[in-house]
Parts: sequence; structure tokens; C-alpha cells
Amino acid sequence: MISYGRQSIDEDDIAAVVETLRGDWLTQGPTIQRFEDAISDFTQAQHAVAFSSGTAALHAAAYAAGLGPGSLAYTSPLTFMATANAARYVGASPRLIDIDSRSLNLDLRLLPCDADAVLPVHYAGLPVGLEQAKWTTRPKVVIEDAAHALGALSYSGPVGNCANSDMTIFSFHPVKPVTTGEGGMVTTNNAELADRLRLFRNHGIVRRPEKDPWYYEISTLGMHYRMTDFQAALGLSQLKKLGSFIERRNEIAVQYQRGLSELEDVALPPEAPPGVVHGYHLYPIRVKARRELFQFLLDKGISPQVHYVPIHHHTISKDIPLPPAGLPNTEKAYQELISLPIYPGLSRESQSTVISAIKKFFSGA
Ligand SMILES: *Cc1c(COP(=O)(O)O)cnc(C)c1O
Repeated sequence: MISYGRQSIDEDDIAAVVETLRGDWLTQGPTIQRFEDAISDFTQAQHAVAFSSGTAALHAAAYAAGLGPGSLAYTSPLTFMATANAARYVGASPRLIDIDSRSLNLDLRLLPCDADAVLPVHYAGLPVGLEQAKWTTRPKVVIEDAAHALGALSYSGPVGNCANSDMTIFSFHPVKPVTTGEGGMVTTNNAELADRLRLFRNHGIVRRPEKDPWYYEISTLGMHYRMTDFQAALGLSQLKKLGSFIERRNEIAVQYQRGLSELEDVALPPEAPPGVVHGYHLYPIRVKARRELFQFLLDKGISPQVHYVPIHHHTISKDIPLPPAGLPNTEKAYQELISLPIYPGLSRESQSTVISAIKKFFSGA
């Protein structure tokens, strides 16, 4: 099976993990800090706090931002449920605004004035233009969901530098730009938010050695959302290769453009404008005969995916009132989207197999 995404692990990654396993710290050791520092350097954000998953990072960011009952947190309908759940986890209410039909990122011009928070998702790795956003009113809290976009570059620098947001979250699930198995990170330039994130990650524990050498105090409800040291070692090793991973993903995108642009039944994903680097976590094309193409590719040993079943199509989302005009761009996109295989280790032969299969499908052969 040629899958839509997969991890790229080499001998250096394996050696890095093994070295940590032989050391003194399996968890809560010094490698976490090193990984956080490396992400902080890479994104140019002042603080980075590691978590056990991207979902945990989203929960922590919603907590640190002070969202709670009564807060309205807007996001894109075309995302993974964890983005909307970030609001639900802290008792806040998720809300949806439609996407831009070209970029497939949420259309920030539609953000209503009652928004307490917005969680823009850099869908497929294409940065949301936060620096150009024509906010009606900018909400108090902006949390970027950059699960797809580590290594992407916006007009205002690396995604995650929080130039136009309070916090950015990343995921290190195997299909994401770099992996730690499971893992996540929040970046921020706000020291107070970084403190709250750290507190939340570790049961709300505050050490108080000045009182008694063993003493610690807990005054807030925290979680156990820590990453292990051997995961951080894998993350550090993976991060060294992120530049080449993004380059390879962009090469694959160019090959798809060359191979598929002649097909009039296929709409290719938007390219990054000049000065912006696309992360190409996904390569979502749009076709009218989506179901038929999906099955055709499966039968040929190719495993595409659909990103995503929109948030409001799930029964859990019956608590979300939709905007009066509905979400027409999302509905239309969802009818047509299909994500083709794209990952650094995708061989040229495998990609040719995918392109030939799609051509064959549309030529009716
Ligand atoms: C993967 C993903 C998440 C969740 O990350 P996990 O590490 O799997 O918990 C959140 N948002 C988006 C957009 C994602 O793709």
C-alpha cells in the first residue's frame, strides 16, 4: 500500500533514541529541555513547551489562555476534531466560520465580533495569512493550530514564531512534519503563558523547597501531559532533517503539478504565494468523482485519505450553531477533496504509480 503519509525514520534517529534509553532519564530529563530549546530556535519563538500529543498541547493552550465556560472559540470546519475539542475540554464553546474556497484556510473576514478566541489551522501546511488578516475585531486570544505546518514560512517568518498570535501548537504524530511517535509542542513569546503551560502539563505542581525540602503545592487542576526523554531525543534528531523533509515535500508537489495539471477534471491545491513556503503536509486535490477515484486508487494499492470529515458533520458537534449563511465553501470542498500520498520517503516510482493511476481513471482506460 502506498499511504497518504508516513514517518521517515533513519539510523541516526534510532541511535538517538537508543542512547537516551541507555542513560539515566527515561522521562523528565534534560532532553526535553534540549528539544524545547531547538523548537524555540527553529521557530524563533521565545518559549516552547513540550506535550504528550498535539491534542494535549491544544488543551493546555486553551487552559493557559483562560478560555472557559461562556468563551466562544472559532475555528475552521475543515480540521481534525481536536482543534474544536480544545474549547470543549475547558468548558468553552467551539464555533465555526467558513473557509476560503481557494486556500481552504478559514476566512478570517467572517469572524464575528463575539469571538473570544480564534484557532486558525494552517491547512495542509499552507500558512494562514494572519499578518494580512482583515479582522473586523481581533479576538483576545489567537491560537494557531500548526499541526501541519512546522517548517512552513509565512510573510512574517517561520510558522510558530507567534508574530501574530498568542500561542502556536504543533503535533509530532508519525504523519506530521517531524515525529516523536506521539507528541506535541506549544510555542509562545509570553513568559506568563509559558509558565501556565508548564504548570498544566505537570499536575499543577509548584515546588516549594524554601518551605520544606520535599514540599510542593498544587493549587490548580493540571494534567499529566509530559513527553518522555526518548521521544524528545527522536524529535531532536528529526528536527535536523526538517529542512530536507520540507524540500522533498515541495519537490513531490511540483511533480504532481507536472503530472496532473493537464487533467481538466482535477483541481490542484493552491501554491504558496512568493515569499511563503508551503509545508505540504497534505496534497489535497479536488475532483467531482471523489468516491469513484478513492475506490479506484484503493484497488490499485494506493491509500488516499479525505481531510477532513468537517467538524459539524459529526454528531458531537450538534452543540455548535452554524452561521446563518451556512458553511457553503466547506460543504463543497468536502464533496471533492482527496489527499494524495506525500511524505519525504515517497519514491519517484511510487509517485509515478499514483500519477499514472489517476490519469488512467480519467481516461476511462
Ligand atoms: C494531528 C492534528 C492534531 C492533533 O495532534 P495529535 O498529536 O494527533 O494529538 C490537531 N490538529 C490538527 C489540524 C492535526 O492535524
